[in-house]
Amino acid sequence: MIVILGAGLTGLSCAYHLGDTEYRLYEAEARPGGLCRSRDVRGFTFDCTGHLLHLRDEYVKRLILEEMLPGVFASHPRRASIYAMGRFAPYPFQANFYGMPREVVRDCLLGFLRAAPNETPASFEEWALATFGEGIYKYFLQPYNEKLWRVPLDQLTHDWCSWSVPRPSLEQIVDGAVGFVNRNMGYNAAFHYPKRGGIEVLPAAFARRCHHLATGHRAVSVDVRKRLVRFASGEEVRYDRLVSTLPLDDLLANAAGGPDEWHSMAAKLKRVSILALNLGVQGHFWGRRQWVYFPEPDFPFYRIGVASNFESTLAPDGCSNLYVEVSLDNPHVDPEPIVKRCLEKLRWLGLRGRILVKDTLIIPCAYVVYDRVRQEVVPRALAQLREREILSTGRYGAWQYSYMERAILEGREAARWCVDRDGPFK
Ligand SMILES: Cc1cc2nc3c(=O)[nH]c(=O)nc-3n(C[C@H](O)[C@H](O)[C@H](O)COP(=O)(O)OP(=O)(O)OC[C@H]3O[C@@H](n4cnc5c(N)ncnc54)[C@H](O)[C@@H]3O)c2cc1C
Repeated sequence: MIVILGAGLTGLSCAYHLGDTEYRLYEAEARPGGLCRSRDVRGFTFDCTGHLLHLRDEYVKRLILEEMLPGVFASHPRRASIYAMGRFAPYPFQANFYGMPREVVRDCLLGFLRAAPNETPASFEEWALATFGEGIYKYFLQPYNEKLWRVPLDQLTHDWCSWSVPRPSLEQIVDGAVGFVNRNMGYNAAFHYPKRGGIEVLPAAFARRCHHLATGHRAVSVDVRKRLVRFASGEEVRYDRLVSTLPLDDLLANAAGGPDEWHSMAAKLKRVSILALNLGVQGHFWGRRQWVYFPEPDFPFYRIGVASNFESTLAPDGCSNLYVEVSLDNPHVDPEPIVKRCLEKLRWLGLRGRILVKDTLIIPCAYVVYDRVRQEVVPRALAQLREREILSTGRYGAWQYSYMERAILEGREAARWCVDRDGPFK
């Protein structure tokens, strides 16, 4: 029997790609979708913060836009900014620092010209300094990444950012310094988003095509010798092959019969949690701006999005839908003081309208931390699991910084692995 744990996008895609092959898909929550679920609160639709679909792979494009959900998505150009030193600059900062104070523009430009890209950087800090130079590092990359990752940047590796943090060409840097806006840089220059219903329409489309899905089934242990998953209800299921999309640290910590080191490996893996403050507000906010990054420590949040500025159906007429993202190293904090500070800063930034909905959500496992421990532990743990017929995959199963399109592709790979011993993960 093929057993899949977790009905987020990766688990759902695995089930979908298994087609008629027999499997059992189990999900802890009452609804499938994982991080791609949306919630409706008094006419506002909130995602688990902004979930924008970036499609590069031809197969996924065809599957989603033509076969599964034709006419459901609209395509949008990115209109994102950075707020620093009291002003807005178009995103990405490294190619658009015109408008910043003159000494900042000079430091960024000179730093970039003096930078010498390093093929083998020892840390994120070394990589960022060598790739972008001291100015861009000091004014944006350092404060922003320290705020998001909550660890010193010399402890982070750089292997998560090759696709997500683009290096401008010399022409782009000069254009960006003198005020020609570089709009099309990076993986997220354009995106797809459902015309209504929030991002949950995507996992829901996969879920409709699954022939076995049991929600409300929280796996509490996996006995890797007996090949047995135990659920919180006491129910058990045997597997021949197991696909797990649970956070890797949870899987290792709750596995029985594996190497002794699994528990210590689990304890070493670091994650960042997020407090998402969703707001439904009267009136329009920030014109057409879709989201803004806040590198400075004075602001408790690292990003604010105005979802209704990319999809107006996410808010009632005449209202705005905002998500405010705060990075946490402990998901068990009292959110109230943080929410209060966020609201004060939002008022200071010009939010005038009456707040109609205030909804907080904590995502306990939001970003996995790419430190040296991860680099050493994750490949070993994944290989040891595979030797025991367990494929741990997806954003948290493989303990990686990834995105929805990749979750769909990894689900397809996982399905191949389930049915083909000589498949991609043999
Ligand atoms: C703040 C934030 C913003 C993001 N924005 C974007 C974006 O704009 N664009 C983009 O492409 N990607 C974005 N992502 C990434 C995207 O959410 C993920 O790549 C994708 O949802 C991962 O799917 P998954 O199935 O691997 O994991 P998950 O969605 O986490 O699914 C795992 C599932 O396992 C279930 N589960 C957990 N424990 C158990 C258990 N013990 N027993 C049974 N079930 C269990 C969970 O309930 C969940 O349903 C963002 C992520 C975050 C955190």
